[in-house]
Amino acid sequence: MAAPKVAVVGAGVIGLSTALCIVETCPSCSVTVLSEQFSPNTTSDVAAGMLIPHTYPGTPIHVQKQWFKDTFTYLFAISNSAEASEAGIHLVSGWQVFKNTPKEELPFWSDVVLGFRPMSEAELQKFPQHQFGQAFTTLKCDCPPYLLWLEKRLKATGIQMYTRKIADLWELHSEYNIVVNCTGIGAHQLVGDKKLFPVRGQVLKVHAPWVKNFIREGDGMTYIYPGIHRVTIGGTREKENWNLSPDPGTTKDIFDRCCSLEPSLQGAQDIRVKVGLRPSRQCVRLQKEVLSQGGLKLLVVHNYGHGAGGFSVHRGTAKEAARLVRECIAALQGASSRAKL
Ligand code: FAD
Repeated sequence: MAAPKVAVVGAGVIGLSTALCIVETCPSCSVTVLSEQFSPNTTSDVAAGMLIPHTYPGTPIHVQKQWFKDTFTYLFAISNSAEASEAGIHLVSGWQVFKNTPKEELPFWSDVVLGFRPMSEAELQKFPQHQFGQAFTTLKCDCPPYLLWLEKRLKATGIQMYTRKIADLWELHSEYNIVVNCTGIGAHQLVGDKKLFPVRGQVLKVHAPWVKNFIREGDGMTYIYPGIHRVTIGGTREKENWNLSPDPGTTKDIFDRCCSLEPSLQGAQDIRVKVGLRPSRQCVRLQKEVLSQGGLKLLVVHNYGHGAGGFSVHRGTAKEAARLVRECIAALQGASSRAKL
């Protein structure tokens, strides 16, 4: 059989990292990325890119932990290399604070991040409205730099990338052997997934270079995440809201909430407002599917539905998607050698 042709649809953090994992683990494949939008126009460009996992109720915790661990290990190595600043990957320390002590004092990811510990009384004095907190060091991906770095790595391997909106996965049947669906919220329309819904998020990207530590309310509703050039402050979680226009009232509310956690943000400048739709599901759809139509078959690997935590688990889910692509290739090769007999 000739080199299997793989189309990865989508160029957010999931599509690009999945394409890279396929190229790295399956060098005999010919991989093409097709996407309606590339950076800076994806949901991934809006995200803060912090590695603090979101919990997927429909996925076993040990699986989520492995995805997070794979991602943390991969990005930690980049943060510790000469590539770090170009890739936009850096370590960041800070605090997750709670008004009431949470039921679960040790989240499942506490031994993956670095130096996880309860906050000291002295640290808690910074947050007079909170009575409990956790301190740790994690990683942050700055976007667009991380997406551009992934694109650069992909181009260096010789893969092609084209701007193209796919209306139906069957369009790709005559050109590709395997299609990998990494379309995020786009999968709602593309494959009619009714279990997938948007959770609208509005954030402000501000200039406040004196803010060096992250601060996050335990419920994840208010956060301050310093990046290399800008601090992302947020946020909102609005289920089933498809509106991509910034709301001025929400901007003021976010700013006030963040200033109450970190009063020095009153001096923030050059406030830019961004909105994104988190592609949310009970669990990430990470599975093979064989589509059939009029006696024809199309092998598809789905990798979408990462909700509020796509950056935190992207490398782990990309590795799994690449493994599923290898299974598809083995099936195609088996079918092709049987046909020759
Ligand atoms: P996207 O980035 O949306 O990429 C989908 C791609 O598919 C796009 O290129 C799109 O053009 C393409 N596409 C869609 N439909 C089609 C089609 N029919 N044909 C061709 N191409 C198509 N996660 C974290 O881990 N940490 C955070 O700190 C964090 N903060 C966030 C803050 C906000 C405000 C928001 C909105 C999200 C945040 N997230 C965070 C979540 C994270 O952004 C998402 O989980 C992640 O970006 C999803 O990536 P994706 O590649 O699946 O989707």
